[in-house]
Amino acid sequence: MGGTAIVIGAGIGGLCAAIGLREAGWEVRVLERAERMGSVGAGIGLWPNALHALDELGVGERIRPLVPPPGTGTMRDRRGRVLVHWDNRELHTALGKPLAGVHRADLLEALLGALPEGTVHTGIEVTGVTANGTVRSAGGEAEADLVIGADGVRSVVRNALWPAHPGPVHGGSTAFRAVLDDVPDGVVSTVVGAGTEFGTLPLAGDRLYWYASMRAAPGVTREDPKAFLLKHFDGWPPGTRDLIDRTPSDRVLHNDLAHLRTPLASYATGKVVLLGDAAHAMLPFLGQGGCLAIEDATVLASLLSRHPVPEALARYDAERRPRTQKLVRLARRAGQASLVANPVAVAARNQLVRLLPSRGHVRRLSVPARWRPPAIVSPSPDRPRRR
Ligand SMILES: Cc1cc2nc3c(=O)[nH]c(=O)nc-3n(C[C@H](O)[C@H](O)[C@H](O)COP(=O)(O)OP(=O)(O)OC[C@H]3O[C@@H](n4cnc5c(N)ncnc54)[C@H](O)[C@@H]3O)c2cc1C
Repeated sequence: MGGTAIVIGAGIGGLCAAIGLREAGWEVRVLERAERMGSVGAGIGLWPNALHALDELGVGERIRPLVPPPGTGTMRDRRGRVLVHWDNRELHTALGKPLAGVHRADLLEALLGALPEGTVHTGIEVTGVTANGTVRSAGGEAEADLVIGADGVRSVVRNALWPAHPGPVHGGSTAFRAVLDDVPDGVVSTVVGAGTEFGTLPLAGDRLYWYASMRAAPGVTREDPKAFLLKHFDGWPPGTRDLIDRTPSDRVLHNDLAHLRTPLASYATGKVVLLGDAAHAMLPFLGQGGCLAIEDATVLASLLSRHPVPEALARYDAERRPRTQKLVRLARRAGQASLVANPVAVAARNQLVRLLPSRGHVRRLSVPARWRPPAIVSPSPDRPRRR
């Protein structure tokens, strides 16, 4: 097959799409509005579904050094009592990969490193797209056989071609995140309180990613997020407030959480296809948004390696919408359970988790992670792909 493709957005989804399409024999250009690819974000959890997809994209070797060895984890209540203890090694054994904490900046750098220089063009903000493959920016117009909208939750591509869609909405919560250096003994942990959760995920290089999510009205900003969090988590178990206290103020990121609560009726029109958050932004309570962007990219590349564009996009749409839109709904429900605020409901939720056997907890967590990627077929049969 093969042809020319323009990918809009050099986030996790856009870079994976570019890698996959190149593997399938396509000529690819990525347009990114940021002036440069820099160190962005904090940590991100990659589940086995995503790690298997990254292998299929041929970047497994680049990702492996970013993944710390799997350990054990706990969920505790606000007073520090263990609700459930689980073992990431069990997940590894069951699904062939662990839950991996990686730094988002390291992940993006590894993905960028898998593309030839000159593939990603920074400082180009796309302002419009047509279904027949024309892409507009301040610099002019460009054409391609395929356009991939990987431009995130506030997608210009979705706005242009799905104008009736209401767009993202606030999910009723907000999140704070940071990465700490020099934490050699970090573990996977979650502490759940009333309307708030605090979690940690170890990263390679003795770093620890922590996140705090809480119910909040849209648009509430905190002048000093660290001071706000120190007050908010006063009296929480050890390993909560002290991690925040050790974090330099300028490392604390704060974002309201938005999602595409109204599902899109299709992910493709004409020569244009959406993937990642542009197609199905979800709340982060399953830790699957970025993983699904990686899945999308792998499925798209696989289909384009075997079918002409119209058939590949129709199949992509039929395959990806049910899975991703179901996970958007499940993530919302997981958020409601994590951030439940009524004291009676908090006690009931905690009791339910406490009664779950550890194995049941791992099994429940791992359901979305059981997905496996389809193969991307090499464009030249005498040169099989190496993975
Ligand atoms: C607090 C929080 C925690 C999360 N934790 C996890 C987790 O643990 N695991 C997980 O899998 N997911 C997690 N996610 C979700 C994950 O971050 C997203 O699903 C993922 O980043 C989506 O990738 P993407 O490439 O689709 O979009 P993005 O990462 O948003 O990338 C879009 C890119 O497009 C560019 N762009 C936008 N508009 C234009 C334009 N007009 N022209 C050119 N370029 C443009 C942007 O600059 C950006 O580089 C979390 C999200 C949040 C908010």
